[in-house]
Amino acid sequence: MNNAEIVELAHANLINNYGCMPLAFVRGHGAYLYDADGNRYLDFFCGLAVTSLGHGYPRVVGAIKQQAEKLTHASNVFHTEPMARLAARIAKAFGDGRVFFGNSGAEANEAALKLARRWGHANGGRFEIISTLGSFHGRTFGTLSATGQEKYHEGFQPLVPGFKLVPYADVAAIERAIDAKTAAIIVEPIQGEGGVVMPRPEYLVRLREVCDRARLLLIVDEVQTGMGRTGKLFGYQHSGIKPDIITLAKALGGGIPIGAMVARAEVASVMTPGTHGSTFGGNPIACAASLAVFDALEHDGVIANAAEVGQYLITRLREIAKECPDVREVRGQGMIIGVALKHAAKPVVDACFRERLIVNGTADTILRLLPPLTLTKEEADTGLGIIERALRAEAGTAGA
Ligand SMILES: *Cc1c(COP(=O)(O)O)cnc(C)c1O
Repeated sequence: MNNAEIVELAHANLINNYGCMPLAFVRGHGAYLYDADGNRYLDFFCGLAVTSLGHGYPRVVGAIKQQAEKLTHASNVFHTEPMARLAARIAKAFGDGRVFFGNSGAEANEAALKLARRWGHANGGRFEIISTLGSFHGRTFGTLSATGQEKYHEGFQPLVPGFKLVPYADVAAIERAIDAKTAAIIVEPIQGEGGVVMPRPEYLVRLREVCDRARLLLIVDEVQTGMGRTGKLFGYQHSGIKPDIITLAKALGGGIPIGAMVARAEVASVMTPGTHGSTFGGNPIACAASLAVFDALEHDGVIANAAEVGQYLITRLREIAKECPDVREVRGQGMIIGVALKHAAKPVVDACFRERLIVNGTADTILRLLPPLTLTKEEADTGLGIIERALRAEAGTAGA
């Protein structure tokens, strides 16, 4: 099937909840994707920060193949070696953690919210969770209620009660919102979907102090920032603090669906048999793929590359921005980068697409770059050239 045929078949049968680009991909290799008409695209999007090792990473492909031939599912009524080994790997990376597996970011966050509720009930009958405006935590009712963006709430009210929204990167606002019912705070280290919004470096440090003082759980949503994206394994590690709970998904499985919630052992102990579950959670193929992702991050120099090439991209984009009056700001950390524009990001995204570079627009005016952590400097330069031309072309037509 070619692009047009796939797009037509999809449009005729799928629920129209995405507003997709009329394009179908059939294979990928490294930083490149190939569409059904044979065109090659440089991928600065990674399926929304999922394929962080690029496409077809040999360790991941090998692990998936091997596990598929052995066992694809056993259920959480039993144990499997990939799940046991991945739990150990994640628990160790977090430090004395206990792990719950689901299949997505929303499920990981839903588990964190439920754990926080249950912990709060056991610790003074508290249930309220403070979240931030501009945040994104998922699309299930619980995680949607924690998501601080009204456009995602529209038409779905009433939401789950017990959530309070306060401005992001504002510690005083959180302190004011705390009362006798508060159990936890949930934040992203960098708001991804919200527009690559970076708090001051000490934000998480202050939140940790606030949580310690008021005996609250600090939940850090690492679904987008985790697994090396920011140039460290977890985004919170830049601040030197330790959260009570973190959530992972997106890049965790190297392209295979998996989500995880990791909690301090003492906090996790309120979850007893029967309190929560997921049929597919901890699927052996997903866990085997994720173990290969950890191997790549730990042994192949991937995180160091993300930090280095990410900084190169940010520095070069800032130079380009000096010549482009429509760029407000270039911000980011490692391989999560936002170019804040004075106008809509969509025409720039489209201009990049015409030159076969996949980038993403978010929060209306933010060009978001989520390249593979394995990106080379040469590939970075190719992408930068296209972005520079797209920004200049848009500046040329602005107001015309
Ligand atoms: C993508 C994302 C989610 C939701 O993940 P899904 O797998 O789409 O459910 C949650 N939190 C953050 C920070 C995200 O970026």
